[in-house]
Amino acid sequence: MTRRFPLKAIGDTRVLLAAAILLGIAAQFTSRSTVQLWSFVLINVLIAQSINVLTGIAGQISLGHAGFLAIGAYGSALVVKSGSLPLPVGLVAAALLGAAAGWTLSFAVGRVRDLYLAMMTLGFGMILYEVVREWNAVTGGVTGLSGIASPTLRNLNLFDVSIGEVGYFRLVLIVTAIVLWLLRNFITGPYGRAFFAIHVSEIAAGSLGIPRAGTKRQAYTLSAAMIGLAGGFYAHLVGYLGPETFGLNRSVEALVMAIVGGLGTLSGPVLGAVLFTYLPDKLQFFADYQFMVYGLILLGSFLVLPRGLAGLFLPRTAFIKDLRPVPVVDPEVPPSGVRCEHEAALLRACDLSISFLGLRALAGVSLEVRAGRIVGLVGPNGSGKSTLVNVVSGIYRAGAGHVLFEGNDISRLPEDRIARLGIIRTFQDPRLVPSFTVRENVLLGAHRRYRQSALASALNQPDALREEQAMLGAANAIIDRAGLSALADSVVRDLPYGDQRMTELARALLAEPRVLLLDEPAAGLSEPECARLGELLRRAKERGIAVVLIEHHMEFLNNLVDEVVVLDSGEVIYQGDMAGMYRSPEVVEAYLGLPTRGTDRQPEPGTVDA
Ligand code: ADP
Ligand code: MG
Repeated sequence: MTRRFPLKAIGDTRVLLAAAILLGIAAQFTSRSTVQLWSFVLINVLIAQSINVLTGIAGQISLGHAGFLAIGAYGSALVVKSGSLPLPVGLVAAALLGAAAGWTLSFAVGRVRDLYLAMMTLGFGMILYEVVREWNAVTGGVTGLSGIASPTLRNLNLFDVSIGEVGYFRLVLIVTAIVLWLLRNFITGPYGRAFFAIHVSEIAAGSLGIPRAGTKRQAYTLSAAMIGLAGGFYAHLVGYLGPETFGLNRSVEALVMAIVGGLGTLSGPVLGAVLFTYLPDKLQFFADYQFMVYGLILLGSFLVLPRGLAGLFLPRTAFIKDLRPVPVVDPEVPPSGVRCEHEAALLRACDLSISFLGLRALAGVSLEVRAGRIVGLVGPNGSGKSTLVNVVSGIYRAGAGHVLFEGNDISRLPEDRIARLGIIRTFQDPRLVPSFTVRENVLLGAHRRYRQSALASALNQPDALREEQAMLGAANAIIDRAGLSALADSVVRDLPYGDQRMTELARALLAEPRVLLLDEPAAGLSEPECARLGELLRRAKERGIAVVLIEHHMEFLNNLVDEVVVLDSGEVIYQGDMAGMYRSPEVVEAYLGLPTRGTDRQPEPGTVDA
């Protein structure tokens, strides 16, 4: 056993469970004020994790999270107080009301980004704050709401048993532990990884079949449910609610806890919550200068701890379940459903045109590709190759013309729907999740193949686990074939360009594409990597995938493609076999230049794979 083992064990479920049980027992032997402080820590853990899910994982900003906290707090207080309903109903109501508010807000804020998103959520927080202040009949206005069932007031019952500070702490502890367990399961599954994909690039996520709006909606709903629940716990812990608790400073405090602790990790927000519950308590002078001190801590942490406290000394959070991969049965015969080459085109682009500010990037381009065929797409820089791939994959909308897949018009579909049909593309500049390992990135490719729900994944249901095992096995097989086995657990941020390219290709292959659109996949690859790429593409062809391959390297295309299409200034100037292309005067003039690159003769076969 290595010396690092104890640190890794921190993330172990059994270790955490044991720690929670010990805390639950220890609560018996400490003062009431200490136990109350512990409850505050747990509530802050929920708040910080709520920010973490939204900002650290899904990459969305909220400057108004105190608004959801207020909804949960007043919601639960009123349900239990006026409705005389039991505490669990109040807490469930807090989470559901928070979720409903988050879901509703996501329709508006899901459409905007960056500064606009910050402003809109800030506005939401301010509106909620004013509502709490002014809605006297319900919230008690500035006087607040007092006499809420709480352990301090000795009027809190759980299933007819009166509970005090210790009992309440244990309740919060159990629920928080369950929430963290669910959260861990969720973010190590396909839907949690999808949050990260949306965070890094909405376009790249869409091209894997991850819907932008739906994923953001999930993130807002989940995050708001968590902080709503925290609000419910808060209301019953203190027994009194006033508007000042839910102002802008609370939203800022939530952000600071999560950021200083470490966004995008599981342990960071927990550390942040502990720190920011104890700091103000220990340093009473904080009260007057709270904002200033938070500001300083935030600035300091950006400077010295860019990845937060967790990044400093805790192991990296894995976004993959620790399961035994089930090896895939990998038949060398093509999978069923593959058509032979003589059949109609699988993908057909008809007369596509698109302009950018008057510049015609595509002027009536048509192209078709059949199952089990590789079409090379070449042409000078700026001739429209990437634009064609962007139009076909739904990232740009053509001004004229249409795209047919299996005879159906897909020109109007959003990019994630197109990807879910099996039209998968890679990018000229690889778009991976930099903080993910190779394996985690590759698994993102499987997104369109998952059948289990997000809930099943969060509950670690057997079917969801089995599916995950199969995907892991499939991912490992492709990683192996792409020559990345030794790097499977390396974070891609630290890898050379060529490995990133191969990772992106492996991710696309795990999607089991019907059509594969590759934008200069060989650029930046070493000779052996190129050979491997060639092998992977030949294999894709054998398996009946229709491939469109943008490439400048003619020798690479010679032995690979069935057909080549040459674009120049957005128009097709040649379509046919490679040999004919070298003889075409238009192509020689526009692209190949003078016949110095062996263009007037057939290059030796096998030059690339040598
Ligand atoms: P290629 O991939 O063949 O090098 P592109 O398809 O990237 O060429 O570009 C074709 C032309 O369209 C270029 O002149 C480029 O500047 C223009 N273009 C592509 N995308 C955009 C865009 N989003 N906005 C403006 N112009 C664009
Ligand atoms: Mg390009």
